[in-house]
Amino acid sequence: KAKETGGNAGKVYEATMDDKAYELYMLRGEFRKALELQQFELHYQPKINLKKKRITGMEALVRWNHPEKGSISPATFIPLAEESGFILELGAWVLRTACRQVKEWRAAEGPDIRVAVNVSVKQFIKQDVAALVQLILQELELPPDCLEIEITESVLSSHESVIQEAVESLQKLGVKVSIDDFGTGYASLTYLKQFRADAIKIDQSFIRHLPQNQDDAAIVSAVITLAKALDICIVAEGVETKEQVDFLVEKECTEVQGYYFSKPLQADKMQELLKQQFASENK
Ligand code: C2E
Ligand code: MG
Ligand code: MG
Ligand code: MG
Repeated sequence: KAKETGGNAGKVYEATMDDKAYELYMLRGEFRKALELQQFELHYQPKINLKKKRITGMEALVRWNHPEKGSISPATFIPLAEESGFILELGAWVLRTACRQVKEWRAAEGPDIRVAVNVSVKQFIKQDVAALVQLILQELELPPDCLEIEITESVLSSHESVIQEAVESLQKLGVKVSIDDFGTGYASLTYLKQFRADAIKIDQSFIRHLPQNQDDAAIVSAVITLAKALDICIVAEGVETKEQVDFLVEKECTEVQGYYFSKPLQADKMQELLKQQFASENK
């Protein structure tokens, strides 16, 4: 008898939930378990200020240390986390973990260090990101200038007004906001005007072929000029060579990030870098 009921329940289930929804539901469960088992980890990639010749901040980049599959790239699982709804839980965890980390580093290695956290557009649509940020800052007794929020440009096009409101709330709190992957969207200049970001990060696809590629050189140079005129900070992503650094120094780009200086590092390795800097500046 019980078996019969079970069979019927199975049919009802099949009828109300299609395969895709079921898959996402299972996936969300798997993600939750992974979070519980502490399989997510933040790596940190320094941002170097070219004028000051020092690390002024770092970006938190999430990794999934899967017991069988090894380290899984966020490029693979963030889209799935977004689809399954898990991004809200993961996003809150990333924010809290990065803030805890920067609190520790500020106390030990210098009071002006800032951490940048990538926030998915899905988070802005489904929750009040500014309220969450405010809560976490209060919880940890942190000043707002220790945090920066990065929003990827390529997905700004939908839900612009919701995001614009959230950006303004974040800035009102004193948290910096930057446009990530600048140049990859369909309306980069419109966004620049609309979102009044504190910083823009030129996408690495424009940096990769510098300085040889004349078109890229012209675009990057013009974007730097534009940012300067608007009085916003400009960051070059994916800087891998000395020649690229020289080009960016000459054009007076504010900050650079990339393998030339450092790959994203585990927290203890990042702390070592900060320690070295702190020691050399206080000799
Ligand atoms: P992003 O925010 O644009 O981050 C830059 C990506 O470029 C990172 O990849 C970084 O490791 C990589 N990178 C840095 N320097 C270089 C370089 O010199 N050369 C090359 N070829 N690559 C470089 P990663 O860590 O795999 O992250 C990929 C994307 O996943 C990020 O792009 C971001 O959009 C997303 N992501 C990462 N962590 C989070 C997170 O906590 N939340 C959300 N929502 N998205 C995240
Ligand atoms: Mg980013
Ligand atoms: Mg980027
Ligand atoms: Mg990116």
